[in-house]
Amino acid sequence: MGRLGGSLLLLVALLAAAAAAAASPEESSAQVEDTAPAQHASVEAAAVSAQQQQQHHHQEQHILPRPLVIELPSSAAPPDEAFEEELPLEVRCASWRLAAEANNLAPWRAVPAECAPHVRDYVTGVAYRADLDLVARESAAYARAAPRGDDGRDAWIFDIDETLLSNLPYYADHGYGLELFDHHAFDEWVERADAPAIPSSLKLYKEVRELGFKTFLLTGRSEAHRGVTVENLNKQGFHDWDKLILRQAVDRNKTAMTYKSEKRKEMEAEGYRILGNSGDQWSDLLGSSVAVRSFKLPNPMYYIP
Ligand SMILES: [Mg+2]
Repeated sequence: MGRLGGSLLLLVALLAAAAAAAASPEESSAQVEDTAPAQHASVEAAAVSAQQQQQHHHQEQHILPRPLVIELPSSAAPPDEAFEEELPLEVRCASWRLAAEANNLAPWRAVPAECAPHVRDYVTGVAYRADLDLVARESAAYARAAPRGDDGRDAWIFDIDETLLSNLPYYADHGYGLELFDHHAFDEWVERADAPAIPSSLKLYKEVRELGFKTFLLTGRSEAHRGVTVENLNKQGFHDWDKLILRQAVDRNKTAMTYKSEKRKEMEAEGYRILGNSGDQWSDLLGSSVAVRSFKLPNPMYYIP
């Protein structure tokens, strides 16, 4: 007990000494400043005092926390253009694709011409499939663990194009996003009702339904395409959704983000809890009344605001 008391006293004394040492530079400077005005007998002395005050100020600046700016020598940051030119095309296009997926690009209308082969190789190769599978697995893991009610009001939203159904056969004939979007040609493709399912999405869709979620399909397709959309979905193994919401005439001039946000708000007003949302565009997922968890599927071929 005595030894512990002694140690505590020693600790307190050490802390007090450390505090005094930390405070002393400011205190001693403050004393200089306090007494300095009485010594100002001449202009020279005033100049000396000003210098002292500057030194004091300088000293204070070092005591205060300094802004966390890392200053790199200018030679370490070469001009962006020169740096970019040195990069292999593959690296430039991988950067572009990552920025597109992360929603860091300004709205874009087409894949950069130099990256068309990169995007083609990605969407037709194993990487796109692997990325889709990973998103679906994470979505399913979340769906299984999400706290669900017993009132049948837990909902999951799925977008359709490039989320449940793949339009790759169409984009194969249109440069994989290199060409500007052609509504007329795309409508003709949609009316064939031949878009294949994205296998990992079909598996997720079935699991989410089996878990008891209400499934709402929320698409930018127009109401005029309801029939062919139902036909296409059924043909590919999607059944028993709770709602299929298509764009009405009144939604025609809205951005996808506004239109989809409004529809989610209506779901919430009906008492649904939107736990999950799957889409290949950020405009499927962002805005208002967003889901508890949003899952972004890859799509480097086009951008919808
Ligand atoms: Mg889509």
